[in-house]
Amino acid sequence: MSQAEVVVQRVKLSPVAGKEGAYESGLPYDRNRIRAGAIYCSDGRIGEHFDDFLQNGLGLPRYDRIALPGGPACLAGHPAAHLEEQGVVDELGFLVQVHGLKRIVLIAHEGCAFYATRLELKEPRLALVQRADLVRAAAFIHRVTAIERVDAYFATLLEGRVRFEPVEV
Ligand SMILES: [Zn+2]
Repeated sequence: MSQAEVVVQRVKLSPVAGKEGAYESGLPYDRNRIRAGAIYCSDGRIGEHFDDFLQNGLGLPRYDRIALPGGPACLAGHPAAHLEEQGVVDELGFLVQVHGLKRIVLIAHEGCAFYATRLELKEPRLALVQRADLVRAAAFIHRVTAIERVDAYFATLLEGRVRFEPVEV
């Protein structure tokens, strides 16, 4: 690593002068909204992959995020996720009204612990239910919100990689 690179790293990681525990992000801030959002699982192991796919794959920088265990599963009518459903419907309503949300992207992912534990499903049925849930969740969103466009994707875990494939909804 060159001397110049070391200096850049130090600048990015240095705390804010005189503010104990504060940190200033080196990323630029853009106040413009893109009027698109995504609902996906809160599993932190693939959080950066969701960001990469939405921002670089779909070209949606600064998209609004609704992340919760199981993601779109809560909008598919499972009684075990009834409380989450109400919460997410409220959040979607807020994003439509205040952020002008017009497009939403739903993402389910392979091996989701929400399906395995809360819904007690096992493969191969687990993945079939997830794909059917994307269709149910899209229909539900069209029914209860004014969002114009709903797209859905299934994230498959390959060897050390994540692939996002479209699901017809
Ligand atoms: Zn998950």
